[in-house]
Amino acid sequence: MRGILRSTAIGLAALVAAAACGGGAAPAASAAPAATAAAKPKFELATYMYALQTKGKIKIGTREDNVPFGLKNPASGKYEGFDIDIARELAKGIFGKTEDVDKFIEWVPVVSATRIPTLDENKADFVIATFTINEERKKQIDFSDVYFFTGQKILVKKTNTDITSLATLSGKTVCTATGSTSEKNIRSGNPQARPLLLDTYAPCLLALQQGTADAVSTDETILFGLVKQDPNTKIVGAYFSDEPYGIGVKKNKADRQGFVEYLNVELKAMIADGRWTAAYKKWITPVSGDEKKAPK
Ligand code: GLU
Repeated sequence: MRGILRSTAIGLAALVAAAACGGGAAPAASAAPAATAAAKPKFELATYMYALQTKGKIKIGTREDNVPFGLKNPASGKYEGFDIDIARELAKGIFGKTEDVDKFIEWVPVVSATRIPTLDENKADFVIATFTINEERKKQIDFSDVYFFTGQKILVKKTNTDITSLATLSGKTVCTATGSTSEKNIRSGNPQARPLLLDTYAPCLLALQQGTADAVSTDETILFGLVKQDPNTKIVGAYFSDEPYGIGVKKNKADRQGFVEYLNVELKAMIADGRWTAAYKKWITPVSGDEKKAPK
């Protein structure tokens, strides 16, 4: 418990630093037309989407300090990032096109280790949070199709010359998030590395800057976000994992009828009609430098 409190405090400091570094880019105005009654999507009575529409609210689990995927902008209090844009499109598909879909959304903050419990405890209808699909997690929850693809790498200070790969992490302190695939991959890939486990990756950057960690390791696109916040860092080595992201849903087919299918149809539509590409260009391109039309 003490560890959680401490890393939360560090996380807040890092968040303010992220905002100062431009993590709070103003989102472009939505191109969606104003809602009309006729624009409200129709669903079968038995579906989970119908139930959500009736409730008039969807609870979405996401990150608060994970640039460029999910950030609660400390200046505006608004959520922003790639995962957030995808989540908003999914909500519009249920509540209809609207200027401000956030009035239908309750954002539920999660960290790596709380994603599955958040679903299990019905605190979120879905979790979109750099969530890698794997066999172990699939035993506990359901996932949508892949909507983003990356792989694990290592971040070090720009001046560091001795860490160049997973093998060179032996004896080094490597910061990563508790309960993430990043933690697992470090433990299995180099048992001689010394993991420093925090709740999220923003405090890991602080640990690197302060010298309590020699490296940070997680998905490359998250590391791109950290490099953007601290140009005195660099990403090294080759990918040592595949990290296909999916949207997590509670495993309970009976009362979530049609929900994963709905998410998959919408994700496909977003990729086909350019909304996925637009979200990529807005949030990922500024940190990665590339452009993409589909997850892979
Ligand atoms: N994608 C990996 C995972 O799901 C690492 C990033 C994260 O912790 O969100 O565990």
